[in-house]
Amino acid sequence: MRYASYSKNQQVLIHPEGIPFEGDSLSSFSAISRLDDFEQPPLDFAYPFSPTLQYRLQGKLLLLDELPFSIDFIHSHYLHGYVGYKKSITNESKQYCCHRCGNTVQRLFASFSCARCLEECTYCRKCLVMGRVSECTPLIYWCGSKTKPAQIADSLKWKGELSVQQTRAADAVLQAIERRHELLIWAVCGAGKTEILFEGLARAFSLGLRVCIATPRVDVVLELLPRLKEAFPKVIINALYGGSVDKEQDAQLIISTTHQLLRFQDWFDVMIVDEVDAFPYSMDRMLEFAVERSKKEGAPTIYLTATPNESFKIRAKEGTLPSVKIPIRFHRHPLPVPFFQWCGDWQKKLSKEQLPKVVHEWCKEKLRQKKQIFLFVPSVNMMKKVKEILASSFSGTFSGIDGVHAEDPERKEKIEKFRKGEIQLLVTTTILERGVTVPNIDVGILGAEDQIFTESALVQIAGRAGRSGKYPTGEVRYFHFGKTEEMMKALHHIEEMNEEAKTL
Ligand SMILES: [Zn+2]
Ligand SMILES: [Zn+2]
Repeated sequence: MRYASYSKNQQVLIHPEGIPFEGDSLSSFSAISRLDDFEQPPLDFAYPFSPTLQYRLQGKLLLLDELPFSIDFIHSHYLHGYVGYKKSITNESKQYCCHRCGNTVQRLFASFSCARCLEECTYCRKCLVMGRVSECTPLIYWCGSKTKPAQIADSLKWKGELSVQQTRAADAVLQAIERRHELLIWAVCGAGKTEILFEGLARAFSLGLRVCIATPRVDVVLELLPRLKEAFPKVIINALYGGSVDKEQDAQLIISTTHQLLRFQDWFDVMIVDEVDAFPYSMDRMLEFAVERSKKEGAPTIYLTATPNESFKIRAKEGTLPSVKIPIRFHRHPLPVPFFQWCGDWQKKLSKEQLPKVVHEWCKEKLRQKKQIFLFVPSVNMMKKVKEILASSFSGTFSGIDGVHAEDPERKEKIEKFRKGEIQLLVTTTILERGVTVPNIDVGILGAEDQIFTESALVQIAGRAGRSGKYPTGEVRYFHFGKTEEMMKALHHIEEMNEEAKTL
């Protein structure tokens, strides 16, 4: 799609190629991002705008391809002030900037010979997974009035009880929502973070506020959705992740992966960021940018994490970020402390299609005890190899051994089978370090010294064990070929939390 500009009533407006133009002196057509700055016609209150378009576009920032409407239709809303166009890739002093994802890293831009604008066209590689934005792709947003969600009184059906610590945190959440300020909830894995949000969410729904729970991981979205639906049966809740179906309903609560927030703008009244420390959020400015833009200005933001990064810790200590710490699990049992076990040069063993003896024996013992096991490994290739070795060495004795990784097409199904106990031993990459809760499991890491296992990842992985009140203990073993600083930090982190918990 190419656009040209023209003046009308002392305003510079734009016009898309291919639809009739009634006027004279149109500039030549080019990619929207290469036009001089243009303006927005004033809102024409008498115009019979389309509620379907309003519904679809409000609070969003979309590509033309993402809207099932003709350009005539969209453009006529622009002419009456209801739709805005935004340049997607601008170039100022030879520096490209992507206005969908905030990327300014120049090596993450590339160009191609474009059939739409008939020129060399630059696009952003950073947000490519969300569909390509190039210089000739306008970003579209809604400028008219927006619909308001219903105020839902008594929306919370959940009747469970909170611990003293959970109650303290729940009160802080309620306060943050009412007084519109930031809040950090620093809670150990298994503290019952979701329940802490319930009172605050109920208040937000009673006020007719739109809430987003954003998390970097799709598994967490999939785990939260049924729990929240059960707790708030009257509230329309939608889950967004790569490949999810946009149900086009006006959801009051959206549970979303942080990536999907790139499609939102100025929409949420309350933002809750779960697992704020988790890769990719912690590493990726883009996701921070997405969280910021998707919420309304001044919207309260609540961060939940078991392992806050340094900057959060400092802000919390200084008091510039209100925070609540929960060092104890809801069932009041201590966190399982990881046991470090040296296993020799395990990579060399793997190359001979073998596992280190200690790892093999450990798995065998657990399988015999009918315990479920999570075995974490550093990479997809190792996952495949370890799974093969285990499956063949236990063939005929134990079944129910499988492996999963982020791009696995059967990821959802396998996790479900593991939850149901149909898979007994699941070899996995770090994708399952958080979010997935299975009551009675032991956890092992093969190659805990690998740099992918940061303090935060190691703490999270250990946090998979002993989560249920019925089985509050669980074994955590870091099999390694040389201890790392991160392993020590994780150990101290867990021990410190357990010490603090004793004083409660
Ligand atoms: Zn981008
Ligand atoms: Zn182009």
